[in-house]
Amino acid sequence: MQVQVSLKMELAASASLSQMEQQIQEAGQQAMREALKQAIRQWEELQVSCPHCGEKQRRLEGTMRRVIATVFGRVQVQRRRFRCQACQRRWCPANELFLSWQRARGPIAWRAAC
Ligand SMILES: [Zn+2]
Repeated sequence: MQVQVSLKMELAASASLSQMEQQIQEAGQQAMREALKQAIRQWEELQVSCPHCGEKQRRLEGTMRRVIATVFGRVQVQRRRFRCQACQRRWCPANELFLSWQRARGPIAWRAAC
């Protein structure tokens, strides 16, 4: 997986060093949140098999929002939801990712079940 984000910000010519530091940190955290979203999306794309029957034929059925609290702020993730073309069950691949993360980190903000 390869994730790429870019940073671009407007800094006032009159800004002090601490103001620059503050603005750059905020922009950096925004880029980190974007990188995490991209990483999750790419990870989702690699999970092709239905967790119920193993079939690889699936159809995208929209997205489910989840807000997670990370070390670089709250990230709103649009989890992809698929329907298996063999057993017709639905699943969000990213849930598996969130579950192991939650186990490692303790309670986090959960929004909307899949
Ligand atoms: Zn299935």
